[in-house]
Amino acid sequence: MVNYKDLGLVNTREMFAKAIKGGYAIPAFNFNNMEQLQAIVKASAETKSPVILQVSKGARNYANATLLRYLAEGAVAYAKELGWEKPEIVLHLDHGDSFETCKSCIDTGFSSVMIDGSALPYEENIALTKKVVEYAHQFDVTVEAELGVLAGVEDEVASEESHYTKPEEVIDFATRTGCDSLAISIGTSHGAYKFKPEQCTRDPKTGRLVPPPLAFDVLDAVMEKLPGFPIVLHGSSSVPQEYVDMINQYGGKLPDAVGIPEEQLRKAAKSAVCKINIDSDSRLAFTAAVRKVLAEKPAEFDPRKYCGPARDLMEELYKHKIINVLGSDGKA
Ligand SMILES: [Zn+2]
Repeated sequence: MVNYKDLGLVNTREMFAKAIKGGYAIPAFNFNNMEQLQAIVKASAETKSPVILQVSKGARNYANATLLRYLAEGAVAYAKELGWEKPEIVLHLDHGDSFETCKSCIDTGFSSVMIDGSALPYEENIALTKKVVEYAHQFDVTVEAELGVLAGVEDEVASEESHYTKPEEVIDFATRTGCDSLAISIGTSHGAYKFKPEQCTRDPKTGRLVPPPLAFDVLDAVMEKLPGFPIVLHGSSSVPQEYVDMINQYGGKLPDAVGIPEEQLRKAAKSAVCKINIDSDSRLAFTAAVRKVLAEKPAEFDPRKYCGPARDLMEELYKHKIINVLGSDGKA
């Protein structure tokens, strides 16, 4: 048993309470390799932003669970080395699919877990979430639950269509499960193809797809039912056109990739939405930078020469999100 406190990590409780009061959101950046982790820690340390290092079950298997525990401990030490005296870093399991997965993460140093029972019938979602909460709270680990279904694909999580969260269920769910935060579905979506072209309109000037707006009425109704309760948005990458263009320019093929416009996320961050998940944008930045180097320098075969620029581009992306979208800079 490794307790996250011994690794220098923190849970989400205090940072969420501060974020709701302060009208900003905490970035939850997914990672699965060293360069991503370096970029996240550097961007957070240099902007003094609390940060959630987020790992899916797939990413945990990819990285190796033992190595991951030391990576998290290393992230805290690296942040201090960068001059961040009291780093506020969370290690969070994204989309935990069972009690066993969540328990295994809690037992190996995670400070926060998500149990995603959103595909289950309502009562089963409650029972599973409650079981995870009871275990997690013994170790002061915070738990995120989910109500409503997001469309899109993310590792093992895939759904054809979304179902908005039903505001009339949230009080009962939060009370009976004891969860610390709640992921809701208001029209965000996993992956780099968040919407089908037929769901969008086209900007006549640029020819680019404009996605349908988020259901802020559903968010407002949830906040009215659960005043001050931490709300989480998944699937909130913006799919920056510059990265998509770069990928396509250098031999990639991502036609009509589309994300959530940043103005909408900025608006959400000012509400009780206190955690915004960003994964695809960093994947796109990484891929764009690697493709560019390999296309321009076909003789290059030192991974540092293409992973280094990828790391730089991700760091720039993370800082942009922290400062210009979430508003979490200077909050830690
Ligand atoms: Zn998600």
